[in-house]
Amino acid sequence: MKILVAVKRVIDYNVQVRVKEDNSGVVTDNVKMSTNPPDDNAIEEAVKIKEAGKANEVIAVSIGEEKAQETVRKALAVGADRGILVKADGILEPLAVSKLLQKIVEKEKPDLVFMGKQAIDDDCNQTGQMLSALLNWPQATFASKIEIKDKKLEVTREIDEGLETIEINIPAIVTCDLRLNEPRYASLPNIMKAKKKPIEQINASDLGVDTSPRIEQIKVEEPPKRKAGIKVSSV
Ligand code: AMP
Repeated sequence: MKILVAVKRVIDYNVQVRVKEDNSGVVTDNVKMSTNPPDDNAIEEAVKIKEAGKANEVIAVSIGEEKAQETVRKALAVGADRGILVKADGILEPLAVSKLLQKIVEKEKPDLVFMGKQAIDDDCNQTGQMLSALLNWPQATFASKIEIKDKKLEVTREIDEGLETIEINIPAIVTCDLRLNEPRYASLPNIMKAKKKPIEQINASDLGVDTSPRIEQIKVEEPPKRKAGIKVSSV
């Protein structure tokens, strides 16, 4: 079994995000970037499945500028076998990302695609669902437990009412929740070994997908500052 995992490079969750002076977006220059947190869970789960002998290859794919290669390298350092970087500049909306991922799925023919439930930069929570629709594959979103049963998956999902367990056929798309597992840290020897693992680079323009934004961003602003409260002497 082959598992493809989509990993996105985002501003690190510990960084205080600042809006650019011209309100055209947020400051990313000299800002610490990391893997989108639930994507770390997605990689961890794929690697654990491989370690359990139920998969033979884990491929990490990231779409974005050249620097997204660091995100793919990190996935290789925690156990992915090889990487793919789809190079694309500018804002990439979930529909463009899912169409590019569809092309990669058609090329690689994985049995499972693992993704994060949501990217912490755009908070869209759309890409997995769109990819599932484009491929006409079943989807299990917000997974907090995954069990492989022959040609099926039993997935426990985090939903508003609590937990829901569903069974879906493979091939399938699974979007991972933070409660799925505890992602491992990359050890120094594994970081060094990852440097030797292959990363294929593909230009998004060569995949025949129109990545131009469909949403016009008018401006980006800080949320209004909270007004000071008042102190009462007694309730
Ligand atoms: P979103 O729909 O933007 O909230 O993203 C959901 C998930 O889609 C992320 O957690 C990633 O697994 C995947 N994804 C979104 N954008 C990208 C990207 N540029 N490169 C790789 N994976 C992505």
